[in-house]
Amino acid sequence: MSKVFKMIILGAPGSGKGTISSRIVRDFGLKHLSSGDLLRSQIISKTDLGLKAQTYMKDGKLVPDDVMVKLISSELAKINIPTWLLDGFPRTQPQAEALTQHERLDLVLSLEVPHEIIIDRLKCRWTHLPSGRIYNTDFNPPKVP
Ligand code: AMP
Repeated sequence: MSKVFKMIILGAPGSGKGTISSRIVRDFGLKHLSSGDLLRSQIISKTDLGLKAQTYMKDGKLVPDDVMVKLISSELAKINIPTWLLDGFPRTQPQAEALTQHERLDLVLSLEVPHEIIIDRLKCRWTHLPSGRIYNTDFNPPKVP
């Protein structure tokens, strides 16, 4: 892909965002920015932002919008060729508004998956919390059960 291309992918947990994103990134050479992965790496590095985010994440809550907007803006600013796919951000309307104030998007991909299918998939899903790797006991089991 020779032109600058900016896209976001939206979808419920279990809709296949991670899988589809990794295929798009592999085939089209976009830089993949996953908000969940960025937060986990901040937590591992014990940054101020990571320590703050962790308190929300461990309660299963969303990290506040101002923290997320700061994190994603600084990551986007670091990319030399601004050709990217955002995965997991925006997740709220204020985040979407903050993003579109500064960026012009080329594509929004919204995965519409029926709830019964999502529930079936998530029943078999396990996450390795330290790395964020996701497994599925049906079709992608971990090496160590
Ligand atoms: P994920 O790996 O995308 O499921 O994200 C893991 C956790 O990180 C979520 O449950 C939220 O607590 C937090 N998180 C990720 N992205 C966002 C976002 N855009 N806004 C708020 N919290 C987020």
